[in-house]
Amino acid sequence: MTESVEHRRLIVAGTGAAGLTAAIYAARSNNDPLVLEGDEPGGQLTLTSEVENFPGFPEGLSGPDLINNMKEQAKRFGAEVDHGIVADIDDSERPFRVELSNGDVYTCDAFIAASGASARTLGVPGEDDLMGYGVSTCATCDGAFFRGEDMLVVGGGDAAMEEAHFLTKFADTVYIAHRREEFRAEDYWIDRVQKKVDEGEIEILRNTELLEVHGSPEEGVDHVTLASNDAGYPADNLDDPNTETYDFDVGAVFVAIGHTPNTNYLEDTGVVLDDTGYIQTHGGTGGDQTATDVEGIFGAGDVVDYHYQQAVTAAGMGCKAAIDADEYLESQAEAAAEAESEAAAEADD
Ligand code: NAP
Repeated sequence: MTESVEHRRLIVAGTGAAGLTAAIYAARSNNDPLVLEGDEPGGQLTLTSEVENFPGFPEGLSGPDLINNMKEQAKRFGAEVDHGIVADIDDSERPFRVELSNGDVYTCDAFIAASGASARTLGVPGEDDLMGYGVSTCATCDGAFFRGEDMLVVGGGDAAMEEAHFLTKFADTVYIAHRREEFRAEDYWIDRVQKKVDEGEIEILRNTELLEVHGSPEEGVDHVTLASNDAGYPADNLDDPNTETYDFDVGAVFVAIGHTPNTNYLEDTGVVLDDTGYIQTHGGTGGDQTATDVEGIFGAGDVVDYHYQQAVTAAGMGCKAAIDADEYLESQAEAAAEAESEAAAEADD
């Protein structure tokens, strides 16, 4: 049986803010993008209820509405959006060969990786059911909705420290639950958090883990169940008589235990990833900021950026990636036309 392969000028992987913005720009540049929507359609934005910091919407709007608007806008200019999870890219030949997890195969001249990063979650009871209703993986997005509440941040890295620090703007008290004694975060963040501890705005619960979140989508988070053990990792040692399990009143829970960039499909390519899997792009201030080490493959959004991770910064990078890809495709077309005319001239001689 011959394999069915469809060729596209440009494929964009991801339908978050980066992928859809890339699609809008690419469609308007006549690059006929195919946009592949993976397992988390719309990306991180769809995990948040209200977006109040995306410029142009003074009243705010919901994350899903923002994404749907972007998708409609991309389609209006001719982008095709289809479900598909990229399983593998072969960059050893041109066009690139892109294989999806369902076995479909495409080829393309340029590829924009905007496949995002998924926030890690704990997998404890109540977390999934209350995600978006008091449980969140983004303090910047959701902190303001819980003004005056006690809030719990889970994690001990830079993100947890930064989120806890940010949440002091809104919270009555912010509690940080970290599973062991030492924080992973840099001294810079530990010092800033300590200052808030001294001011009575943050309280640190060391050697403490979240076991369950209680509440309802209607009423939000009511309280949580925590476990503590001075030896650390209490959730792994619930049978230890030194492990104390208790209910704790908070109105919101922020899970800040890291993100995993969705870049498995790039591992066998020449695209350089850092040791946590984020795509390394060229960056800088001139053109080609979103270029990777493989000519014709570009990266945008949370799959590149572990730092800013905002809808507006992801959208900005998506725009840059579409412009970089357009310039690349134009240069390829010019080179092909030149080669053709040289070949024609040689044939005439
Ligand atoms: P991270 O550095 O990997 O830290 C994750 C934290 O979550 C760790 O303290 C870890 O505990 C904890 N954790 C992981 N799984 C857990 C579980 N199942 N239960 C309980 N706790 C769990 O992740 P991050 O804080 O998101 O940072 C990721 C990268 O972004 C880092 O390179 C960081 O420097 C960078 N970043 C920088 C800034 C900044 O400079 N402004 C802000 C945010 C992030 P253990 O310590 O016990 O492993």
